[in-house]
Amino acid sequence: MTATPPADPRFAANAIPCDGCTLCCFNEQVILRPEAGDVLDDFDWEYIASDLYPGQRVPALKRDPATGHCVYLTETGCSIHERAPAICRRYHCARTFKALGRMSRCRRDILWAMGNVLDRAQVERGRDRLQRARELGIDHLIDTDAQVRAFERIADAHKSGRR
Ligand code: SF4
Ligand code: SF4
Repeated sequence: MTATPPADPRFAANAIPCDGCTLCCFNEQVILRPEAGDVLDDFDWEYIASDLYPGQRVPALKRDPATGHCVYLTETGCSIHERAPAICRRYHCARTFKALGRMSRCRRDILWAMGNVLDRAQVERGRDRLQRARELGIDHLIDTDAQVRAFERIADAHKSGRR
């Protein structure tokens, strides 16, 4: 299989095939980011509290009360793939795994101990997808600087008790 690098490096993770996986769509918090171009009126959404944004209520896609998953997830995958929120287009488990590998053991342990930041199944999937990206020769496309900074901010805030 060949993968075509996307033109926009911000979405480089899109070049890494998910091969039918929809695991991250099971996420309980698909946060919308107007500053990244999300138009709230385009989605079925609600305000939620999120540990990723301590002390704030942030807009997020609604969840199906029957499954707990994003309301746009169907048996065949995302029903709004072409206009999915920025976080869905940006997120890739391979990035998460790669970013964790750049962090100190101490901060990684804090994130794991928090219990609601890292999803073990997605991290394991990220290990597999990063390996796949390496096989395809495109692992260099997965930028991690912003993800590492975000993880470090969360870990440090938790450690200092500011949250
Ligand atoms: S968990 Fe990883 S492989 Fe699965 S859908 Fe999400 S990004 Fe793709
Ligand atoms: S909008 Fe689509 S890609 Fe995003 S979580 Fe929902 S089903 Fe998954």
